[in-house]
Amino acid sequence: MPKTVTLPNGETVPALGQGTWYMGESAPERAEEVAALRAGLDLGLTLIDTAEMYADGGAEEVVGEAVAGRRGEVFLVSKVYPHNASRAGVQAACERSLKRLKTDVIDLYLLHWRGSHPLKETIAGFEALQAAGKIRLWGVSNLDTDDMEELLAAPGGHACSANQVLYNPSRRGPEFDLLPFLAEAGIPAMAYSPIEQARLPRGGALGAVAKKHGVDPFQVALAWVMRAGDVIAIPKASRIAHVQMNAAAHDLVLDAEDLATIDRAFPAPRRKVGLEML
Ligand code: NAP
Repeated sequence: MPKTVTLPNGETVPALGQGTWYMGESAPERAEEVAALRAGLDLGLTLIDTAEMYADGGAEEVVGEAVAGRRGEVFLVSKVYPHNASRAGVQAACERSLKRLKTDVIDLYLLHWRGSHPLKETIAGFEALQAAGKIRLWGVSNLDTDDMEELLAAPGGHACSANQVLYNPSRRGPEFDLLPFLAEAGIPAMAYSPIEQARLPRGGALGAVAKKHGVDPFQVALAWVMRAGDVIAIPKASRIAHVQMNAAAHDLVLDAEDLATIDRAFPAPRRKVGLEML
């Protein structure tokens, strides 16, 4: 059974998706990037995460090409820059993203990080986009617990559908209070950089657990990120071989001994750690 995560509206999405940061930056690599994303769709990685920021819109264009003719299979996530996150700015930015994505609706539209526009203005922009049928759901990214509290107290803030944050075995800070807060609110977390941009150590605990299961250490990291059932992992892979490996992580189930091994090498936080960003 494919692992899924339930959104606040009751809809389920794949627990393992595909990221796109650094796609769309180089014309010679574009065909490989499109092919990688399409291979991911074939393997059930049908949640695709992108942003207007990535390659200055270039990543959204790659995604548009990859989902052409297959839009119905895909749960499409994009993000608005904080400096575009005024009520009117959100709407204009979304129109530009829709053109690059060659679609008429974004499934989940996120505030990329908090900037100077008041959250209530951004929410009003999101609500106008929902009313116009341009986005289905909205959420946020890089918001720590205090910002989430403020968001949920703002008019309409309770409709937030996800918070996308940096989370992997070497970045466990959110476990102290942010992930429990989100779980209590019924809002899934989306873990970005789930393999720390391929910099997680391949030896040590991850290597030992990988050896035990006959898999790759990065597959262990992905299974670890998804272990609780309410976190979506969005690894980025431009190479089909990487996409295949990541998709196979889906079937890996870590046991208590594996989790204890990982805990010893990457201890859970014992006090508040401010949310880190990449
Ligand atoms: P990541 O997914 O942790 O790592 C991506 C890197 O790992 C790429 O260099 C990729 O190589 C390599 N890779 C992927 N699978 C691999 C495998 N099985 N074996 C070996 N190497 C592998 O880092 P990320 O791109 O920073 O994060 C994932 C996504 O999260 C982003 O693409 C983006 O969509 C989102 N994100 C959001 C924010 C935010 O502020 N909201 C910030 C960062 C990222 P190849 O590409 O060569 O295959």
